[in-house]
Amino acid sequence: MRLDVVSIFPDYLSPLRLSLIGRAQEKGLLDLRVHDLRDWTHDRHRTVDDTPYGGGAGMVMKPEPWGEALEAVLGERPCSASEPDAASSDVPEPEASAGDAPEDCMPEGSSSAGAAGPVLIVPSPAGEVFTQAVARELAAEDHLVFACGRYEGIDQRVIDWAGERARVRMMSIGDYVLNGGEVAVMVMVEAIARLLPGVIGNPESLDEESHEDGLLEYPVYTKPAEWRGREVPPVLLSGDHGRVARWRRDERLRRTARVRPDLLAALPEEALDRRDREV
Ligand code: SAM
Repeated sequence: MRLDVVSIFPDYLSPLRLSLIGRAQEKGLLDLRVHDLRDWTHDRHRTVDDTPYGGGAGMVMKPEPWGEALEAVLGERPCSASEPDAASSDVPEPEASAGDAPEDCMPEGSSSAGAAGPVLIVPSPAGEVFTQAVARELAAEDHLVFACGRYEGIDQRVIDWAGERARVRMMSIGDYVLNGGEVAVMVMVEAIARLLPGVIGNPESLDEESHEDGLLEYPVYTKPAEWRGREVPPVLLSGDHGRVARWRRDERLRRTARVRPDLLAALPEEALDRRDREV
């Protein structure tokens, strides 16, 4: 999978070079390219923001650098799109994307991953909520591009324009406001990348995780069997796989009911059997 991230703080993304996600890049499972938005500015101050039309507090990210940056990293153009404007034709390609832009245009209306071109993800507290289900959908794509906003966000025309050449999703990682999209991108990249084949050593460990089937995970324990007067639930030491599985299922149901009753209420009727309902 190829991932492009555009940000005014490329160093913010450096933790993505560490741990399992870093190793996935070394193994060639992930091709992560981080770009500095200011590489697509043309003034001495490398300006990326300006005051908002209509007045009000804060600054808004300017459309021109974003337009050129996204043209470069999205690569393909829809067949109907006009040529980029003259101002962008003499822009040096930033190092990470040099030579990557395909020559041909992208047929509109195609739907399979890959053939449909990249998905542009714009982090925003005003976007749809990023969930495990969305992470799974995005993990099936070949190419994701992330546009990190700062200040009051990116000029809306950039998102509208990009929607004519790529599939665009504005994504919120939760109901709170961050200073910029970089942390949100790290969250999304980690959640997506760990679902790719080969990234997690034991793929079975993904199956029973919280949010995979609408329930939270059961509590987990390791050695020693007693620690500071607290014992591991005896059923886990019993060696009886059937009883362990039932205990874990019960704990998942109890925990979800206690912490996230909204998740339990959203489960389809057939997800719970008669025994589940007795818990
Ligand atoms: N004025 C915007 C609003 O009220 O919707 C908030 C802008 S915020 C200060 C700056 C940037 O941080 C956003 O453009 C977005 O990239 C990112 N951001 C903030 N909160 C986020 C969230 N919950 N999820 C995803 N991205 C977020």
